[in-house]
Amino acid sequence: MQLPGIRSSLDAPTSADGHPRVALTFDACGGPAGSGFDEKLVTALIAQRIPATLFLNGRWIDANPVVARKLFAEPLFEIGNHGTLHRPLSVRGRAAYGIPGTSSAAEAVDEVWVNHERIRSLTGRAPRWFRPGTAHYDDVAVSIVHDLGETPLGFTVNGDGGATFPARVVAREVGKAVGGDIVLAHMNQPGSGTADGVIAAIAALHDRGAQFVHID
Ligand SMILES: [Zn+2]
Repeated sequence: MQLPGIRSSLDAPTSADGHPRVALTFDACGGPAGSGFDEKLVTALIAQRIPATLFLNGRWIDANPVVARKLFAEPLFEIGNHGTLHRPLSVRGRAAYGIPGTSSAAEAVDEVWVNHERIRSLTGRAPRWFRPGTAHYDDVAVSIVHDLGETPLGFTVNGDGGATFPARVVAREVGKAVGGDIVLAHMNQPGSGTADGVIAAIAALHDRGAQFVHID
């Protein structure tokens, strides 16, 4: 998850007027157990005008075409690429959490590029950021992402433990963010503690003067 060439934090930790800058990112993983939509979370982000980067997997877009169109039309949200089939990005099949990685350079290219083209055709903008399923890469795969014109993204704060943490733990973990952090959480598990935890953490971070930003 941490290799040269993976961006894991913001270039500018503080704003020109001294506020800590924090990037919230939300993955939508897709697949049989991962194609839900956390409407409470996303509605709160929009109501509070909180910018975020949404990493959409191709399978999630397939399962949520109407919601996806609304997200694409919302300027608060930058759309990132969360892969075509949600596989760890490898050139020799290395698995993460039991999920087999892509097994060749060609498969790694497809994992990035098929969903890249999908997002570009639907939004009119090429995604700038790629985060693979499980956020695991090998070093050759990191180079492939760069060659395809995207930047491999990691994170500094694991906000919701793959949407398994209860709300109070999400609030505590996301609330630990400091200037320059990239927070990872999920927007595809509406039954999780993520929405309530993130909403509480946003209030706490606002109290500390944080600004929520897109990744720079
Ligand atoms: Zn995912």
